[in-house]
Amino acid sequence: MTEYPMSPNSTPLLGQMMDQPLLVSSIIAFAARHYGANEIVSRRVEGDIHRYTYRDCEVRARRMAQALAGLGVKPGDRVATLAWNGYRHLELYYAVSGSGAVLHTINPRLHPEQIAYIVNHAEGQYLFFDMTFLPAIEAMARQCKTIKGYVAMCDRAQMPKDTNIPMLLCYEDLIASSSGEYAWPQFDERSAAALCYTSGTTGNPKGALYSHRSTVLHAYASGMPNALNVSASDVVLPVVPMFHVNAWGLPYSAPLAGAKMVFPGPALDGKSLYELFEAEGVTFSAGVPTVWLGLINYLVENDLRFSTFRRTVIGGSACPPAMMDTLIDRFGVQVVHAWGMTEMSPLGTSCTLMAKHRALPTGEQRAILRKQGHAIYGVDMKIVDDDGSELPWDGTTYGHLLVKGPWVVSGYFKSEGGEVLQDGWFPTGDVATIDPDGYLAITDRSKDVIKSGGEWIGSIDLENIAMAHPSVLQAACIGVAHPKWAERPLLVVVRRPGLAVSREELLAWFEGKVAKWWIPDDIVFTDALPVGGTGKIQKNKLREAYQGHRLPTA
Ligand code: ADP
Repeated sequence: MTEYPMSPNSTPLLGQMMDQPLLVSSIIAFAARHYGANEIVSRRVEGDIHRYTYRDCEVRARRMAQALAGLGVKPGDRVATLAWNGYRHLELYYAVSGSGAVLHTINPRLHPEQIAYIVNHAEGQYLFFDMTFLPAIEAMARQCKTIKGYVAMCDRAQMPKDTNIPMLLCYEDLIASSSGEYAWPQFDERSAAALCYTSGTTGNPKGALYSHRSTVLHAYASGMPNALNVSASDVVLPVVPMFHVNAWGLPYSAPLAGAKMVFPGPALDGKSLYELFEAEGVTFSAGVPTVWLGLINYLVENDLRFSTFRRTVIGGSACPPAMMDTLIDRFGVQVVHAWGMTEMSPLGTSCTLMAKHRALPTGEQRAILRKQGHAIYGVDMKIVDDDGSELPWDGTTYGHLLVKGPWVVSGYFKSEGGEVLQDGWFPTGDVATIDPDGYLAITDRSKDVIKSGGEWIGSIDLENIAMAHPSVLQAACIGVAHPKWAERPLLVVVRRPGLAVSREELLAWFEGKVAKWWIPDDIVFTDALPVGGTGKIQKNKLREAYQGHRLPTA
């Protein structure tokens, strides 16, 4: 625990405000009491629509917390979920953390062996799952050594019949067996509330262990107008999954603001999302670029418009400028580009304009909005060179990005990876510039930077230019070995269905848009790019696939 210096010979004069711990349960208790009739709407795994209120949600969350106590779950125990975005998952967010136990959300897109590794590492006691994941549970149940019971998130009628899952329980039976006479316990706000593992593209996954305090502070700050701007007048549909960094905090920040929530369940295709947006009057959403690709394509192909959808947060990987332009100019949707990471709960920056930008021409405003944005209160950041010396905020000098703040990890669960902080700062593994107004622009992940003749080439810029070409659907740029320059950029491109563009045409497209030596040496076309469990392009897979690629010598 941090020791704070006190002036000698004196005791500090303490403030006289109520000392209430910042606990996750206080959010749902507040929403139930002050916005009790506001709705939570979910598309269920079964396909139907479920609808209830914050008041109902809080009662059921307390019943589930009581049931967990009945099962012997103690404060600090880990309770895992393998579930889509839906009302039962939201109940567990509050039931598990609110009871003092730790909610461990697991990405079901991981391989069953990776899931078993994470469950064992976390020493989970119970595992709740949506029926979609029954086969995954069957495949891995025997490898999970610490699990005392598996809970199917359904009612009795839908319980699986012929299954080999040991100790199988029914979610609705647990709720029904509780009297509801349960008061949210009060405890130290620094207690662990939730656990989320990084996807571990290199090495084993590592756990970020959030506290109640960090979660509540993050929910407060991320809802502010400069950030996600969540209010009671919004209808919020998180496309970003609740199994990946707590859906960017929306299951906390939306109830905190009293906003109506809409959960898409497993139906994340363009048609299903669009229908839900329209039927429920969604005003605000959040997701990674690959999700928006599907939704935008569906709207374009069917010549549709949104009636209520006004604002979206895009992050997780760089939002291609062409996607931002389409959403703003064609569909009238404001795009807030945001940056963060699992280790930051996840929000670090978000991009909105300042008053002084209001008079700028659209093109100049757009150039700002393309950046990853401004730090939100609570987060501090700096860029440093290889020796750790701080670099200037001039918008062109790039360096390693370091962050600190009350919702940034101080180390990984079970000290995995050892000491991670550098002089009290967390190294993000990203390379970035910061401009004089404090806007951050991510150039690359340090492991993806292309090192050409001792200089760095940022792959994100090259990809953005490629994706602005009308015939390009997706593009990824990687470094491949070059005898003279060490590495040179290779662009891997997926063309839009039915549209043609040649290698030469696309190379010419780069001229005048970047320094000549940044222009890729070669372009290859492919049908699809490898995408990982969190919807991001897996550049390590691309590098493996093209490591032997011979660049043209001319
Ligand atoms: P992982 O992908 O390892 O599970 P995260 O999901 O926490 O980890 O991803 C964090 C990383 O994603 C950041 O360090 C950064 O490289 C990338 N990222 C997140 N948002 C953006 C963005 N808006 N633009 C560019 N990169 C981003």
